[in-house]
Amino acid sequence: MSEDCIFCGIVDGEVPSRTVYEDENVQAFLDATPLSRGHTLVIPKNHHERVADMPDGDRDAVFEALGRLGPAVEAAVDADGLNVGMNDGEAAGQEVPHVHGHLVPRFEGDGGGAVHSIVRTLPDLSEDELDDIADAIVTNDQG
Ligand code: AMP
Ligand code: ZN
Repeated sequence: MSEDCIFCGIVDGEVPSRTVYEDENVQAFLDATPLSRGHTLVIPKNHHERVADMPDGDRDAVFEALGRLGPAVEAAVDADGLNVGMNDGEAAGQEVPHVHGHLVPRFEGDGGGAVHSIVRTLPDLSEDELDDIADAIVTNDQG
């Protein structure tokens, strides 16, 4: 629980929400400013800012709920597809610093883009640079 966190307020019941699912670990509710009909957020009940901050149990519960609720959200609004995504960190567009996954229903011809549309300028990387990046990820992986 973080004092001035709006999503902790939703978990506590101090902030109203249209909750569509909850258990001891996670809560899912409609986004207050939906990108499309049915736009739903899934959060861990415990306050964690970034995806990597979550212990295994919370992380697994969030991703399990995202996977399970996706088809229900899609069916509820008769959507044709779904974007499942997280803005992880301020530079990535995260505005609420409490982990949340977005389920955004998509409709044929809705004019929206793919996840690829979040970046406007593609990097121009050489084969060596790609090799270095791949090596650095392997080196930094704690798993
Ligand atoms: P993000 O940019 O990934 O941090 O997105 C935060 C999301 O939280 C936005 O889509 C907001 O519309 C949504 N949001 C903020 N406050 C509330 C609230 N009280 N209830 C439901 N959704 C909210
Ligand atoms: Zn919080």
